[in-house]
Amino acid sequence: MHITDIILKKRGGGRLDREEIDYFVGEYVKGALPDYQIAALLMAIWFRGMDDQETVDLTLSMAASGDQIDLSRIPGIKVDKHSTGGVADTTTLIVAPLVAACGGKVAKMSGRGLGHTGGTLDKLESIPGFSVDQSMNDFIRIVTECGVSVIGQTANLVPADKKLYSLRDVTGTVDNVSLIASSIMSKKLASGSDAIVLDVKTGSGAFMKRSGDARRLAEVMVDIGKRAGRRTLALVTDMNQPLGNAIGNAIEVQEAVEILRGDHPGDLKTVAFALAAQMLIASEICSSEDEAMARLDQALSSGDGLDRLRKMIEAQGGDGKVCEDVKRLPQAGELVEARAKTDGYITAMDTESIGISALLLGAGRLTKEQPIDPAVGIWLERRIGDSVQSGEVLARFYVNDQANLEESIERFTAAISIEAKRPETFPLIYTKIE
Ligand code: URA
Ligand code: CA
Repeated sequence: MHITDIILKKRGGGRLDREEIDYFVGEYVKGALPDYQIAALLMAIWFRGMDDQETVDLTLSMAASGDQIDLSRIPGIKVDKHSTGGVADTTTLIVAPLVAACGGKVAKMSGRGLGHTGGTLDKLESIPGFSVDQSMNDFIRIVTECGVSVIGQTANLVPADKKLYSLRDVTGTVDNVSLIASSIMSKKLASGSDAIVLDVKTGSGAFMKRSGDARRLAEVMVDIGKRAGRRTLALVTDMNQPLGNAIGNAIEVQEAVEILRGDHPGDLKTVAFALAAQMLIASEICSSEDEAMARLDQALSSGDGLDRLRKMIEAQGGDGKVCEDVKRLPQAGELVEARAKTDGYITAMDTESIGISALLLGAGRLTKEQPIDPAVGIWLERRIGDSVQSGEVLARFYVNDQANLEESIERFTAAISIEAKRPETFPLIYTKIE
């Protein structure tokens, strides 16, 4: 087999069979094919697309390129949850302990934030002492004892994705449904859970800006999961504004703790409950959404959800007392307010740009190596549909370093559209794909 034949076939619009896909994935991971040939192939895939079978074959080939985690020592149905990437998406920190409190088993390997999207690992690491690096034995023990553990991916989990994603990132080939679906689902399949609940984001802060594209991505991922023998479903949810109020790391942990305490209703809680309900149904713990919602309400009001978060934090070496006293989390040195420049209604937010505003403060990273500042971030005081008057506070910036502060605030203010007419409302959860 020759890589040039495969490139030419895809360039001409042909379909690749499993042997051809296995060949380029396997040889590339081994280092036997140069980046420039795979970059050319990715671009051909980007223009020509892949059909459903090619996408499934690519996913299975990638999933088999490294470790395949065996969770069979944990009794019961193991359930995973994955978001396709958004801004201020704190749902895992709420969903995972709540599902565990209801009897679910959540064994989750998570990623770091890159670009404008935040990563759950970075948020968890803002908790003093918390370690996302656990041995496989400890991971399995913690899930068995606490019902939940969130760790980093093992070094050799889907090496094909590490190489392909790095190349896509610098060759303009990230935003293709087949490439995104295979990247995400190969990691989910290799992580070993029996059931997978996907949160596919759509809107100004998501990879998929249009809901039709998000729906298509959801359908492709659900199809891959099912063909691989995993119970899989997806919710398409809104990312036209940051989810919840906090955008950052420690402040998102704070927000999750407040929601688990029951004193913070809003969009983040609504999306978290919707995802958690699907996880309970996929785990065969509940048989309907109504039953699941009632169980989740009980786990919240009894404090069991918060208790699971505390147990997981302590099992992973962290300071569980942050669940009683959020001031034990890293605190920023200074609070700076961003104010509205005109009167009107907030009609839209450029959420990707708001994510970059938080990144400029130090809450995120532009390159994989860049350190983040756990204490900094943005606390939104207003959301789409709210009325504001000139001079009123739109958000509070948690700051440690003045270097990019002005640029960050300017970018943030420019990302918020204020107009005279009240905007139409849009759904928080668009659709469910089963
Ligand atoms: N997240 C991933 O893991 N991969 C993609 O391609 C896009 C988002
Ligand atoms: Ca948030």
